[in-house]
Amino acid sequence: MTALLELSGVHAAYSGITVLHGIDLAVEAGQVVTLLGPNGAGKTTTLKVAAGVHPPADGRLLLGGRDATGAPPRELARAGVCLIPEGRGVFPNLSVRDNLLMMTFTGRSREEIEDTAYARFPALKPRHAQHAGTLSGGEQQMLALARGLATDPAVLLLDELSMGLAPMVVAELYEYVADIARQGVAVLVVEQFAAAVLKVTDHAAVLAGGRIQWQGHPDSSLHAELSTYYLGSAT
Ligand code: ATP
Repeated sequence: MTALLELSGVHAAYSGITVLHGIDLAVEAGQVVTLLGPNGAGKTTTLKVAAGVHPPADGRLLLGGRDATGAPPRELARAGVCLIPEGRGVFPNLSVRDNLLMMTFTGRSREEIEDTAYARFPALKPRHAQHAGTLSGGEQQMLALARGLATDPAVLLLDELSMGLAPMVVAELYEYVADIARQGVAVLVVEQFAAAVLKVTDHAAVLAGGRIQWQGHPDSSLHAELSTYYLGSAT
């Protein structure tokens, strides 16, 4: 099967300092691929390359087998790539409804966007008039996901969904993510470490020092790899 998203030999640098040294990673439709790694490993940079936010210094970005290297973020977004950045991509001073209604630029009607969002994330419906900044962290992530899904993405890029959230909330969010993948979306998740994400992961990669040190099925050998590369704790 052709991967919807593929990074091949990707190098990336900031101000001439190389931080990714040849990343090979592929995500197929319906798959959750998780990129794990300690602080500063290059996880966010990898997502930025995949979203076109940071152009690779070398290597290729392929979307559905087509070369999209160097394409600007807007073009990649139009091609179906959606990045949900760390820190919950919502507007805190706008209501839940207004956060959703901003997504009408996608060409969908207000009703369709709201109905789809509340059907998928029922917890948001009774909070439609509430400022997004006053939602719980988990609800904010649900809203960020709902906004992203309004673009009908083929490729969903998620940066540290678990940041600052209780393990139970993270587990619930990753159940939603698994469901999104089941509908045919290629999902690339970045996490420093969240046990919940491994439960829904089809393929895991461990990134350290800008290199993929290991990749494969998230089985017991992954845990051995993680303990080699982590100084942080496993939560
Ligand atoms: P974290 O989990 O801490 O966010 P990460 O694995 O996502 O880490 P990146 O944010 O991709 O790692 O950073 C990789 C390296 O690139 C780090 O050494 C970081 O300092 C550097 N870096 C990231 N963004 C920039 C930037 N805008 N300018 C310069 N260097 C950067």
